[in-house]
Amino acid sequence: MYFFRTEKGIRDHLFGVRGEKIGFVPTMGALHEGHKSLIDESVKLGCYTVVSIFVNPTQFNDPADLEKYPRTLEKDIDFLGRSDCDVLFYPDEAEMYKDGLAPVPKVDLGHLENTLEGEFRPGHFKGVMQVVARLLDIVGPDFLFMGQKDLQQFVILKSMIKQLSIPTQIIPCPIIREPNGLARSSRNGRIDPDLLSGSHILNGMLSYCKNHFPELDLTHLKAHVKKAFENSEYKLEYFEFLDTHTLSIVNRKTDSDHIVAVIAAWAGDVRLIDNMLMTGKL
Ligand code: AMP
Repeated sequence: MYFFRTEKGIRDHLFGVRGEKIGFVPTMGALHEGHKSLIDESVKLGCYTVVSIFVNPTQFNDPADLEKYPRTLEKDIDFLGRSDCDVLFYPDEAEMYKDGLAPVPKVDLGHLENTLEGEFRPGHFKGVMQVVARLLDIVGPDFLFMGQKDLQQFVILKSMIKQLSIPTQIIPCPIIREPNGLARSSRNGRIDPDLLSGSHILNGMLSYCKNHFPELDLTHLKAHVKKAFENSEYKLEYFEFLDTHTLSIVNRKTDSDHIVAVIAAWAGDVRLIDNMLMTGKL
């Protein structure tokens, strides 16, 4: 595995492998099996695989959240050593944002930017677009692998790539879960041990909806989910059925051929998100 901290270093290196397809997996570190699955997908497609680790300050609207974000570089390097990653790029802030090289891309996201996660985290997706546009410019990948776990991020980046005519194909990858169904996340380690046993509720409710989607209407399914949370220690923030491509709320099953259920809930002071496709695909 090769390591680079500077734009020039990685650009020069990748210039030498231009004959190969380049697959890119951007992360903020604290790597787990979810990240590994994106690397595996890139390798499966025969790509020369680049992973980046950068805790991007511009996508945190809460400085305390940025402060608390786990930074585990040594462990991450060990983890990557056990994967088939070819290159790790781990720039610092000065390198990423030097000389005003990373403007926020001017793209029209309509309501996509301010709904759901955007409502809870104002400015978050501007920061995400800013850092991903900069990374794509540096790495110039053929494929960008992103987790379906962050569905809104995927939809927004797909739109950004299209609007900016960036020659990279974005590939959605399935959500990797703990044995009890909880989606893997670097935040899971912060869940109070007393609450952990109830953490199957997010996936449990999504699975309930998926299983009963054919025969029950959406109002009924939503009411069931709300009730289950009222009887749990987890606090529901939102639960919605959305059109997978536009992220507009869907009230009737007949409104769209591709419907996804999205959920955000609190385990104490830890906020968790998850989603599951009901019909169609990403
Ligand atoms: P992060 O380091 O949290 O910014 O995540 C980096 C990438 O890993 C994003 O594309 C995430 O959607 C993806 N990812 C995070 N958790 C999971 C998971 N449990 N399953 C699949 N992909 C994930």
